Amino acid sequence: MSEATVENCTHNCSTCGESCASRTSPQSFLKEHHPDAVVRRVYGVVSGKGGVGKSMVTSQLAVLLRRRGYAVGIMDADVTGPSIPQAFGIHEKAVGTENALLPCVSKGGVQVMSINVLLDDETDPVIWRGPVIGGVVQQFWTDVIWDVDFLLVDMPPGTGDVSLNVFQQIPLDGIIVVTSPQDLVSMVVEKAVKMAEKMGVPIVGLVENMSYLPCPDCGKKIYLFGEGKTEEAARRHGLALLSQMPIDPALAKLVDEGRIEQMQSTALEPVVDVMVGPQE
Ligand code: ADP
Repeated sequence: MSEATVENCTHNCSTCGESCASRTSPQSFLKEHHPDAVVRRVYGVVSGKGGVGKSMVTSQLAVLLRRRGYAVGIMDADVTGPSIPQAFGIHEKAVGTENALLPCVSKGGVQVMSINVLLDDETDPVIWRGPVIGGVVQQFWTDVIWDVDFLLVDMPPGTGDVSLNVFQQIPLDGIIVVTSPQDLVSMVVEKAVKMAEKMGVPIVGLVENMSYLPCPDCGKKIYLFGEGKTEEAARRHGLALLSQMPIDPALAKLVDEGRIEQMQSTALEPVVDVMVGPQE
């Protein structure tokens, strides 16, 4: 801590970047990325529970950003349910140097780091306790030589200790909240809002996945799990509902076959617009 820091202390850690001993904000746990890494912006993709399509949304955002010409990486922080390498058809192992890890790169140029590219056998279950998992995720940030405009973090589902670690250790520019209509949407959104507020991270907006099923004959939208709940939760919290994605078996097939980069869907373009901002 420099003398100047002490003298200039505003006693408001949320507006000060110095890491001094009296820091009280959770930001004090922030870690530096690898010195050789280049990471311009970091976005987390969160959900209330598993299976709502968080990895699907993360993958699609990466594909769309890549198509706009950005260098993109995905950190698969969903360590106990890693599905990103599969979606991108990545089955090789990550290569390490003496003090760093290099991300795997998909056919379309998306950089990926996941526990699945480190395990000897990608079908091995990860049966580690929270702190070990947290340590691995931390290394995905501190030890990986990313070279990206956008790093997307596929967060563990929920607000458990691994999520908390990510929030505390990685400087997120924003989070995207993925819900599905069969979720307890208003509770999920409320938890995400509170967590984001506590951590001082802005919410980019909400994505409702599996919103409806388009009738294969007439195209009419069938709202299997009811309509309007996410919209209402978004309104209540002053958030934007940026996209409502239909159930699309073709997308699930592309993920299963490792070909998500061939997707046609543009449903998440409004999310990408917000992430990229007006400078494009
Ligand atoms: P999470 O990351 O939230 O656990 P996933 O993204 O892995 O969820 O999605 C769970 C399963 O549902 C996967 O098999 C995925 O391919 C499928 N899926 C997700 N979203 C859709 C969708 N909109 N249409 C069809 N299948 C989907």
